Amino acid sequence: MKSIILSLLTAAIVSFQGIAASEKSGHPDPTVNPVTTKQPEDNKVYPIAIIGAGAAGTMAVKRAVLNNNETLLFLGAKQERRRSRGNWVRKVDNMPGFSRYSRTVLELRNEALEELVQGPFSHNLFVIEDSISSIEREGGFFHLQDASGRTYYAKHVILATGIMDEQPSIQGSIRPILKYANGQTVAYCVLCDGHRSFRKQMAVIGHSGAAASNALLLAEKYPLQKMVILTNGRSPEFSPELLNRLEEKNISVFTSPIQEVLGNKEQKLLTGFKLENGSTVEADMAFVSLGVRPNNQLALQLGAKVDESGLVIADPSGETSVPNLFVIGDLRANSMKQIFTAWQHAVDTVQLINRRLREKGEGSTACPEPQRDSATLCGFK
Ligand SMILES: Cc1cc2nc3c(=O)[nH]c(=O)nc-3n(C[C@H](O)[C@H](O)[C@H](O)COP(=O)(O)OP(=O)(O)OC[C@H]3O[C@@H](n4cnc5c(N)ncnc54)[C@H](O)[C@@H]3O)c2cc1C
Repeated sequence: MKSIILSLLTAAIVSFQGIAASEKSGHPDPTVNPVTTKQPEDNKVYPIAIIGAGAAGTMAVKRAVLNNNETLLFLGAKQERRRSRGNWVRKVDNMPGFSRYSRTVLELRNEALEELVQGPFSHNLFVIEDSISSIEREGGFFHLQDASGRTYYAKHVILATGIMDEQPSIQGSIRPILKYANGQTVAYCVLCDGHRSFRKQMAVIGHSGAAASNALLLAEKYPLQKMVILTNGRSPEFSPELLNRLEEKNISVFTSPIQEVLGNKEQKLLTGFKLENGSTVEADMAFVSLGVRPNNQLALQLGAKVDESGLVIADPSGETSVPNLFVIGDLRANSMKQIFTAWQHAVDTVQLINRRLREKGEGSTACPEPQRDSATLCGFK
């Protein structure tokens, strides 16, 4: 367990090295929050708290603030930000208008926050640069504690904490793969980056049926020079049917552990993999297909229902099994892990919350002075 946590931390640190400067937002480092807002009041129950500011959280805060609802937005401490998929996204080819960004999700977040802070509804926005580490529901609203111990209160909580891809351990470390992941010659999302395999020598790293299916999907969809599967020392878990299809497509399976990732680290260009059995597999692009880890700790603390992978189960508007707790984006079960899906979730959820607030006449009201004391939690009816 300790070594997994250490590996994740290492991954995080390395993934942030060599970050290209943001081309568009005007901020040299897109990982840095570009705005400062007023901080939330103590002892006030805010109508909406959004935890996580990746693709889903960014769309949710935009919609909520424009709906004229006071909104707490927790960006996550560096550690959490690094453990999210959104942080890894470089260029996005499958959404219109995104080709100008080099760190798409982070740059979109920064642009959105800057616009909100400069706009007429800036009084509704409270950005907190910390993670929420614990949450409970008491008295009909949520009590959220950040990593530095401060407590916040909210009527509706939107979890937008995302998921993280499992990384391959190469001789006990996940570092060797990360430079190439930053350069998009190692990829994770077939729907996002599959087209980059066009005419390439490809490898899929994984041992499950999903890894085999991804290799087949790419080989069927695109003309490739070659496709191989590297199980990195694990026994393949492929059904007889998958094995037949792999054979038909001339996809070889190498089970020897990976000893070294080959390529030009500086230019982030992959050339292949050296295996422990002495063989070398040439590849100029690889997909990692080892599954994901959901950032579901807060949902679990509240007892929300999750599926067998730990993704949080919700109804179509995003409400979980805990009333007024919502989940949007990658963390939601049974949903496509894409930016546009995260956006749709965000809008559906925030609109529903706004309707509930309006029905109770609780929309955007700032606290009247007399209620500002620790005995009365202002803003909560
Ligand atoms: C390499 C790669 C490339 C991709 N390319 C594309 C693409 O081309 N097109 C596309 O549509 N999709 C792409 N995706 C998928 C896309 O990244 C996700 O679908 C999208 O980011 C999901 O948004 P999200 O908000 O749910 O999660 P994320 O964007 O990952 O955001 C989660 C946020 O939660 C925060 N957080 C976590 N825990 C806490 C906490 N306790 N407190 C506070 N904050 C917390 C993190 O800091 C993070 O900011 C790609 C994914 C990967 C890995």
